[in-house]
Amino acid sequence: MQIVIADDEPTSRRLLRAVLTAAGHQVLEAADGEAAWELLEASGANLLITDWRMPRLDGPGLIQRIRAAPRSSYTYCILLTARDSKTDTVVGLDSGADDYLTKPFHHDELRARVAIASRILALEASLREARDNYAYQASHDPLTGLLNRPAIMGHVEAELARAGRGGSSLSLALIDLDHFKEVNDRYGHLVGDQALRSVAQILTSALRPYDWVGRWGGEEFLIVLANTGPDEAAQVAERLRALVAATPLQLADGSTLPLTVSIGVAGTALFKGQEVDKVALFQQADRALYAAKAAGRNRVHVASALD
Ligand code: GH3
Ligand code: MG
Ligand code: MG
Repeated sequence: MQIVIADDEPTSRRLLRAVLTAAGHQVLEAADGEAAWELLEASGANLLITDWRMPRLDGPGLIQRIRAAPRSSYTYCILLTARDSKTDTVVGLDSGADDYLTKPFHHDELRARVAIASRILALEASLREARDNYAYQASHDPLTGLLNRPAIMGHVEAELARAGRGGSSLSLALIDLDHFKEVNDRYGHLVGDQALRSVAQILTSALRPYDWVGRWGGEEFLIVLANTGPDEAAQVAERLRALVAATPLQLADGSTLPLTVSIGVAGTALFKGQEVDKVALFQQADRALYAAKAAGRNRVHVASALD
């Protein structure tokens, strides 16, 4: 593993480097705490072996800075110092060190302590990965990979609050597949699922990086368009509608299945400090979608104030 060693004595660093590289580790050297801090930041290494007394920033100071910094992964810190009183050990560990070794160090003991660090860091990485997986699963729809309903709703609320703070516009586009029940009835649910994934993919690829898209429910999707008024949102929606209509689903037997969507758009321009009733905005989008369906489907309808 990558290890940052911090020591102002070149001979100490040389010895440490020799022992650690012989044990198969990669060593990055720093001559003081500041340099070690920069190396840790730049390299992403998460194991530090540091001397106590060094110019600019000493070992305990360095460890305190590491502990105070918001880092995405844990940094395991070993203090390696000539100070060997019990008081020193306690002060060193209290600064946030995970382990404490005295100089001159026993080579095999150092190797064994580094092996402990490896185990702890591997455990921490696997816990972090599990946590990230759970967070992903809790916020994404397993079929399409899009944000799920609670997650996209969270973005609606955040974008509405932001639009109110800054005084900008915001639009919603509610997208519903046309006659989707027929697709299931005629081709089966697996093809239906494939159609949902395909439309999700089209929406994702055609959106701007600052738009949010989620699966709102069964065969409905919701797009949140920040900084976008209803007219511009209608143009975006029309582009998406045309793209879905122009991209038939490729079936396993070589045939194709045309898909279309109807889209209801509702948008509002907020003045600074304004709060918007999100329920009313959703009702407008719903009604606009209903109007698009009633007018023959495969079309975009924009809610007007009168809707
Ligand atoms: P309309 O044009 O009026 O929207 O007609 P529709 O048939 O699309 O609307 P309806 O609401 O009657 O039917 C929606 C269908 O979507 C019914 C349901 O079985 C299907 N559906 C919902 N979720 C899923 C899913 O995850 N997979 C599949 N295959 N079908 C789904
Ligand atoms: Mg529907
Ligand atoms: Mg439908």
